[in-house]
Amino acid sequence: MYSRVSRCGWTKIQNRLTLATQHKIHYSSNILKKKESVSRNLQPGKVYHGFLCTEVEPIKEYNMTAYLLTHEKTKTEYLHLERDDSNNVFSVGFRTTPQDSMGTPHILEHTVLCGSEKYPVRDPFFKMLNRSLATFMNALTGPDYTFYPFSSQNEIDYRNLQKVYLDAVFRPNLERLDFLQEGWRLEHSNLEDKSSELVFKGVVYNEMKGAFSETSSLFGQKFINAILPNGTYGYVSGGDPLHIPKLTHDHLRNFHATYYHPSNARIYSYGNFPLEQNLKFVNEAYLNQYKYLDPKNSVVSPQVRWQNMKRANIQCRVDQYGGPIEKQNQIAIGYVMSDITNLYETFMMTALAELMIIGPNSAFYKSLIEKNISGGYNSLTGYDNQIRDTLFVLGLRDVEKSKFEEVEKIANETIEQIFSKGFEKEHIESVLHGFELSIKHQSPKFGLKVLFNLMPLWNHNGPILNALKVNDLLNQLKSNLMEPRYVKEVIEKYFIANHHKLIMTMQPDPKFDDIFNTAEAKVLKEKVSALTEAQKEDIYKEGLELSRAQKKVQNLDVLPCLKIDEITLNKTAPELKHTISGNIPMQLCEANTNGVTYFKGVLGTDCLNDSQRQMLPFFIYIVDKFDTKSYNYRDFDKYVSKSTSGLSFITHITEHIDQPGQYEQGVLINSHCLDENLPKMLDIWMEIFSKPNFNNKERMNMLLTNYCSSLTSGIIDSGHTFAMQAARALVSSVDECKENLLGLRHVMNMQDIQNKYTVEDIQNFMDTIAQNILKGDNLRAAFHYCNTNQGVHEAIDKFCTDLCKDVVYKDEHNRINWTDCKNVPKDNRGVHISMNIPVNFCAKVIPTVPYSDPDYPKLRVLTRFLTSKYLHPIVREQNGAYGGGAMLTMDGLFNFYSYRDPNSRVTMDVFDDTTDWMAKNTGLVDDQNLFEAKLSILQQMDQPIAEFMKGIDLFLYGLSYDIWQTQRERVLAVKKEDLIEVCQKYLPRTKWAGKCVIGDGASQQLRKESEAWEKISGPQQ
Ligand SMILES: [Zn+2]
Repeated sequence: MYSRVSRCGWTKIQNRLTLATQHKIHYSSNILKKKESVSRNLQPGKVYHGFLCTEVEPIKEYNMTAYLLTHEKTKTEYLHLERDDSNNVFSVGFRTTPQDSMGTPHILEHTVLCGSEKYPVRDPFFKMLNRSLATFMNALTGPDYTFYPFSSQNEIDYRNLQKVYLDAVFRPNLERLDFLQEGWRLEHSNLEDKSSELVFKGVVYNEMKGAFSETSSLFGQKFINAILPNGTYGYVSGGDPLHIPKLTHDHLRNFHATYYHPSNARIYSYGNFPLEQNLKFVNEAYLNQYKYLDPKNSVVSPQVRWQNMKRANIQCRVDQYGGPIEKQNQIAIGYVMSDITNLYETFMMTALAELMIIGPNSAFYKSLIEKNISGGYNSLTGYDNQIRDTLFVLGLRDVEKSKFEEVEKIANETIEQIFSKGFEKEHIESVLHGFELSIKHQSPKFGLKVLFNLMPLWNHNGPILNALKVNDLLNQLKSNLMEPRYVKEVIEKYFIANHHKLIMTMQPDPKFDDIFNTAEAKVLKEKVSALTEAQKEDIYKEGLELSRAQKKVQNLDVLPCLKIDEITLNKTAPELKHTISGNIPMQLCEANTNGVTYFKGVLGTDCLNDSQRQMLPFFIYIVDKFDTKSYNYRDFDKYVSKSTSGLSFITHITEHIDQPGQYEQGVLINSHCLDENLPKMLDIWMEIFSKPNFNNKERMNMLLTNYCSSLTSGIIDSGHTFAMQAARALVSSVDECKENLLGLRHVMNMQDIQNKYTVEDIQNFMDTIAQNILKGDNLRAAFHYCNTNQGVHEAIDKFCTDLCKDVVYKDEHNRINWTDCKNVPKDNRGVHISMNIPVNFCAKVIPTVPYSDPDYPKLRVLTRFLTSKYLHPIVREQNGAYGGGAMLTMDGLFNFYSYRDPNSRVTMDVFDDTTDWMAKNTGLVDDQNLFEAKLSILQQMDQPIAEFMKGIDLFLYGLSYDIWQTQRERVLAVKKEDLIEVCQKYLPRTKWAGKCVIGDGASQQLRKESEAWEKISGPQQ
């Protein structure tokens, strides 16, 4: 799903140092379709459309062929990966290495998307979302690169997007007003009033203020700046709010001319569309018109290594929701490792970091995490091979200052211990097994993943083709790691004898905001006092001009658009088999899973009472982290990681697609394994079901602390999701349940639980939950496997029979366990969740009709129409929020939201005024706008399905292919008058609704007319 808020990729890359411990389920992926070999075998040494083909290399592990080409005139590098995959990718990337913290690359990423020579349209990517069937579209800024990738399965669409992307990056208009809007500007707090005070504004300016107030992104940024202080990594590529106002429009334009030059570009394509067409277009339309420009400016030199380790200390803001202030400190110990271009070393370090950090058998987990002196690893922890000088970082969050010394001591001792004892053979095997399995797993969006992995290496001219031959690397690693002497050498070189080491600590400072505000006020005062009368007059005029420009209706007809007859249905009904084995309803699907078998199951939880249910998310967090009756937790973890992908547990609450009065609540469990390991994987699940053991008190305590710590991070990043969730809970009992398990309410509940209960109480809860839900007659299961897996049926049958050995056989097998909803009072209520954050998140929710109702597809199309024609223009472009839009849940709750919003009641009024706006703007409901709104729904519906996800909608939600297809046909059949009609029918301001604002919100009166607002303080108060 696309939302406006995901466009800017800056923060995403900044947060890249996260532990790769969990595999998230992706609900869409690449589909493999046979197509004729398309690149008619380009040959090395020959020239194709101005590109010299330099290398052609088969990559066996991924069934693909890599073509490396160089543009003769400009030396642009081009990598094409030809693979029988319809989800084709295209990307243009540049090495962008700032020498200051004005945020130039980041602001440039925003402004190139404000219109180009051929497409003078603000926000063309966003506008293309409604004119395309893209499966991915984005722009991302890293510390030293910026790239613009998209993917699509439709070739006409692919060519359309290519045109827009290339024109945006090579020929952007970069107009002054765009710079003011996206970067920074001085503006009167009251636009019309010349005497009102001047303030800083700008999209990136505000975005970075937000990022700098977020503790973990601040720590991550400052850590890289401090450990790699020389050159580009010493600066903030996203922009430091106090430095952004130094940037000039001219500097931005010059930066573009130098860094977004073809000679500094890397172009990538992937999939089964013909390569030569790409080459021809890129060459003729753009590259051919440039001269070579030596990209020496952008080269990053390796950092000179330190002779002595260093220390640093910084302050952050107090997290109102983050536990006692004495504990809100962080510490990180980091080492600069090998150069990114040293492929084998970086590959080896990835494995080493896993051996050292991840899971209960890793050395640091044993020595530091299990000591229970912190809230667990912080988000910097891990091996970062995204920048020239790669980093190993070990960090803890929520740790008392008095423990810093102890942490350091333990870290040193742990390294000494690894040096003297090495790693256990079994542990090494399990880490290597994980690598092997991940190579075989047909991961969704494969072409994009490869690009994301290669981009940092390619950016420093690393050996990208060798990087794709993972089996060679893996074989070399296997033989090395088993050699104790080798491990000793590595630990000595990178840790014991490595003096390029930084220890950084961070404490909360209650004055943090004041200090920033004072500094900001100083910068502002300097700027304002330096202004001449003429400049002041310009600011006043430009403010009004920008406001007018933002309101101006743009001519979008210049943008390419798919046509209705170019859209084809590319899905077929999956072949599924439904049986009962033991007492377990089963859905089986034979698919092209590349030697991997996938298991999914749903466990009902309606048997739990309210206080047990509150604990469910914690239960699923810990259930596979304890001893079982046959294994201690370390051995169990080894067994799991040696035979499977790991076990996953997810809270599963789903609305009925037909009956608004019913829902299912449960736990979704899943795992996958190499075919030959299936009996072991099922044995592991058997162990979880029949022999859990929560007796270890110390471990329970530690996991509880870590769990509660983890809950508060990330609230700001997904504030709009939390706001919608809390608003939905006011109008729906399904969502009341969700709010209690997945929303902010859950965070508060867990803090109560920590205070209210003893460890023994919690152990009792865990035992009871286990006894109630981990039962054969409480499970339904789904398997995906390929026809080469001979023993699959026998193994599954044995698993089911064993699991159901003690259960009473029932005649009825409910595939989905529906629970009846409670009635919710139909008052117009609002909840203001007060949090100490500088911006708000707003939501309004109106109940309408469920999925199977004929009005549902009309409302669904309406969400897209309102998002692009009403909410985005007003809430974002006029009122200054970072994003705004509408969406519909399966049971027909119509959601309005805003993201990082400086206003709250103003936005609420926009939501309330929807039908009035529609009445005045029926002219906007024209054929093109209707088509665009439909298309963006089809984008969602037509996403390719991964082999291991076929038929899963039926399994999870009771949503069959036929129902899905009816919905798709109804979406295509929606008429213009339908949109106006359902808008007036369901969305008037008088309709029953729930509202939520998360944030400070204090400056505005939220309550209006007949609404009842309740204010809730955060969990700590
Ligand atoms: Zn941004």
